[in-house]
Amino acid sequence: MKPFEYAAPNTLEEAIGLLGEKWGEAEVLAGGTDLVTALKQGIMEPDRLVSLKNLTSLQQVELREGTLHIGAMAPLAAVSENSTAQEHFPSLVQAIEGIGSRQIIVHGTVGGDLCQRPRCWYFRSGYGLFGQHDGESLVLNGDNRFHAIFGNEGPAYFVHPSSLGPALIALDATLIAVGPKGKERTIGAGDFFKTPQNEDERETVLRPDEVVTEIRVPLHGLKNATYEVRHRQGFDWPYVTATVAFQERGGTASDGRVVLGHVAPVPWHSEKASQSLNGQALNEPTAKECGQAAIVGAKPLSGNRYKVQLTKTAVKRAVLSAAGIEQEA
Ligand SMILES: Cc1cc2nc3c(=O)[nH]c(=O)nc-3n(C[C@H](O)[C@H](O)[C@H](O)COP(=O)(O)OP(=O)(O)OC[C@H]3O[C@@H](n4cnc5c(N)ncnc54)[C@H](O)[C@@H]3O)c2cc1C
Repeated sequence: MKPFEYAAPNTLEEAIGLLGEKWGEAEVLAGGTDLVTALKQGIMEPDRLVSLKNLTSLQQVELREGTLHIGAMAPLAAVSENSTAQEHFPSLVQAIEGIGSRQIIVHGTVGGDLCQRPRCWYFRSGYGLFGQHDGESLVLNGDNRFHAIFGNEGPAYFVHPSSLGPALIALDATLIAVGPKGKERTIGAGDFFKTPQNEDERETVLRPDEVVTEIRVPLHGLKNATYEVRHRQGFDWPYVTATVAFQERGGTASDGRVVLGHVAPVPWHSEKASQSLNGQALNEPTAKECGQAAIVGAKPLSGNRYKVQLTKTAVKRAVLSAAGIEQEA
């Protein structure tokens, strides 16, 4: 591992001042469950780590004026155990409960989940975000069973690893990012993720000298649920995640949102599936139709066609779950 400087400042201003203007100069350290692995793998080699552990105000989760304010340094468990989240945001709680192991849920933070780096095995083996060797795509020519089926026109084929991203987008969440001189940006969760176009870019719109400080989730009264398809009970990321949210009146859906995870380089908002819910009675045929709409435009690679069927099923089950309709195991 490359030697690095370590700082644990006591103020946000100080922390931001210690970050660099270019990616790679310094990295924010939260719970370290992703970053430390990346350091050991040599895929991130910063000169400095800036720990946010002393910024205890960023750990709070509280309901204020109809919005759940989640500090970026809040452990994942603090959200899944929060009574407001449990009552109003089952999709978020389900996304957290699916994560790897209890240790990760207790130690990993919400900000860290949103900013974690892709798990693509070519990236993790040192072939860059696009998994290339001598100008050739290792993804297209190799084992791509866990790669993208949407948004995979290239050069990025990895899937965004965050399970919370789809839920936060479906729930209309916003993120607060603070940069030099205390400059604050409010970023819609749907605008936070981006597909990098070159190896110097990252998977979010965050700048190298910005810190995510808070995530705000409004209580909009949406019915919502997340359904993930995973490999048994393994400590691993899902094959496919679907978060569904909608307003419900008299058994009919409106304002539908369907956001998929682990199928594209960004959490994937499925317009067609979202629209398919509007004005429809909430029942099994509507859920099935929504699943069908979600796979329109999928472009599986040579080894991941199976994800298309999983997406269809995950969306259908998320719709039924959000609608409170019992389904067979
Ligand atoms: C075995 C295993 C299984 C997992 N399964 C899942 C899963 O199913 N779904 C899922 O979503 N995740 C999964 N994870 C990932 C896990 O959720 C993340 O590792 C964790 O949330 C990262 O949080 P952290 O606080 O440890 O972040 P760190 O490791 O400290 O940081 C991660 C990245 O985010 C950046 N960062 C952290 N906080 C901020 C901030 N406030 N502002 C700006 N940048 C920041 C860091 O610089 C770093 O690049 C799994 C992890 C493991 C090890």
